[in-house]
Amino acid sequence: MNSFDVEKFRQQFPLLGNNSQSIKRHAHEQTNPTQEVSNAFVYLDNGATTQKPNCVIDSHQTFYQEYNANVHRASHVLSAKATAAFEQARDNVKDYINAKSIKEIIWTKGATEGFNLIANTLAHHILSPGDEIIISVSEHHANIVPWQLLAKQSSAIIKVLGLDEDGRIDLNGFEKLINNKTKIVCCAQVSNVLGKVNPIEAIIAQAKAVGAITIIDGAQAVAHFPVDVQALDCDFYLFSAHKMYGPTGVGVLYGKQALLESMPPYQAGGEMIKKVSFNQPTIFADLPFKFEAGTPNIAGVIAFAQAIQFIKQFSHSAIMKHEGVLIQHCSRALAQMPNINFFVNNVPDIPVLAFTVEGHHNHDIASALDSFGIAIRSGHHCAMPLMEYLSLSGCLRVSMAAYNTIEEIDYFIACLEKIITGVDRNIVVNDVSAKKNLQQRRQLNSDDIIKQFIHIAGWHNRHREIMLLSKKLRRLTNSDRSEQALIHGCESLAWLVATQDEDKIFYFQADSDARIIRGLLVIVLAAFNGKTAGQIQNFDIEEYFATLGLMQQLSPSRGNGVLAIVEKIKALTLTE
Ligand code: PLP
Repeated sequence: MNSFDVEKFRQQFPLLGNNSQSIKRHAHEQTNPTQEVSNAFVYLDNGATTQKPNCVIDSHQTFYQEYNANVHRASHVLSAKATAAFEQARDNVKDYINAKSIKEIIWTKGATEGFNLIANTLAHHILSPGDEIIISVSEHHANIVPWQLLAKQSSAIIKVLGLDEDGRIDLNGFEKLINNKTKIVCCAQVSNVLGKVNPIEAIIAQAKAVGAITIIDGAQAVAHFPVDVQALDCDFYLFSAHKMYGPTGVGVLYGKQALLESMPPYQAGGEMIKKVSFNQPTIFADLPFKFEAGTPNIAGVIAFAQAIQFIKQFSHSAIMKHEGVLIQHCSRALAQMPNINFFVNNVPDIPVLAFTVEGHHNHDIASALDSFGIAIRSGHHCAMPLMEYLSLSGCLRVSMAAYNTIEEIDYFIACLEKIITGVDRNIVVNDVSAKKNLQQRRQLNSDDIIKQFIHIAGWHNRHREIMLLSKKLRRLTNSDRSEQALIHGCESLAWLVATQDEDKIFYFQADSDARIIRGLLVIVLAAFNGKTAGQIQNFDIEEYFATLGLMQQLSPSRGNGVLAIVEKIKALTLTE
């Protein structure tokens, strides 16, 4: 199949539903630009994980319904069937990335585990004090923290590569950093924030010239374009199934056979041994099993093979062409909007766009978009050193997949415009209501909040109400916003100050740099202010948020951190 039929592709994803028609109408008619599409769902957080096609979902179900058995362990028919499908999947991955042998394909639970495996086996053994590890500043934490731990243990030194103006790894800088002490070079083929393909061929060649091991993070690459590990000639290549339409909990560590042979095992247990005895040394299994201790994610691995088949069926070149159109369309539309800041030159190579909106907190934009049914990411994107490098506290990231459409991008842009320009009057609080709110200085309690929310239907309207409430929060002074008052676990900044009167009643003041969080703080403080420690401990916050229809705001996701705020209040009052 050469030309890409986006509707046909999209229909394979049950979670995406069928709202593309109403979004299409919205995009084409534009008779009333302030009209949001009811029940819209536009998923633009594919860099975090993609949705799953029917073939992947069905594969899971078929495995558990028809041939669930452990692999490699039994002589019965079910086990043989499960083992055959499991090993077939390994073969499919081998072909997909053009590895030489299935011995070079190790199942992990994701890219992260792959980095930890290498850091704890090979890397541990080749590093001496003073040896150097080169990583780039745009790496995901998964490709930073294992090396930091390793460097500490082995007294090795981490050298950090900067970026050029396009946001790619700076090759000139690399030439200056690399030397005979460089033992490991690890970098992403594509940054998960900037979406630029790094010049990894040149990096690998130069690293080889000094005898360094090369480790390539392919997590953001494999879904978007073909990868050939033999042509790259890297030593290791890592990725996760869930970012390429496959299941979560499955990843691949590709490693050159000779290197894998030379490495000690990572985890020990069943499956990774040939012989265990108390009288002789344990003999490990051959590759790839030496690195696969314990029962693997059998259903996930088999379903992953379906995801690969699915991508192949639609063809990488057709997918790339469609994604190229999305990149151009989205980049151009964003660039034409006022107050949008990009951080690097030129459009990205994969459909991942990072930006900030001047005058708006990233978290406010993301949650306002969420109220229109649009899922994007805000925050540091597990790339805090990159944020620091770009002098950002965080940013917004739109990441598209091949099922996204031009109409969805238009809807996203139209909603973003509404949010930024304040066309949606209820999102930008008008001054009259704000002044009235300021005059109502009476402390709100949880009953007031419940009365206010109980009749509001839909997240979009509740979101508006939260934004209105944000005006009621008395802001903290700069001196109150101390490090001590900072609440950890929020991606925006939030502070909490507690006081207690002579009757042992607690009063809280809080603040945040994000408006949505200020609104949520009003709701949380209404539940806890003016109460004793016992009343605070006994207050059922989950029931309260469920009654308000805001349960999703209490999720342990670090996104908005409401749970972290509640936990801090409970911890502060626990000893009383
Ligand atoms: N590397 C990159 C570039 C990523 O984007 C991610 C995930 O977002 C990872 C590594 C870690 O992947 P996982 O969480 O699936 O192990």
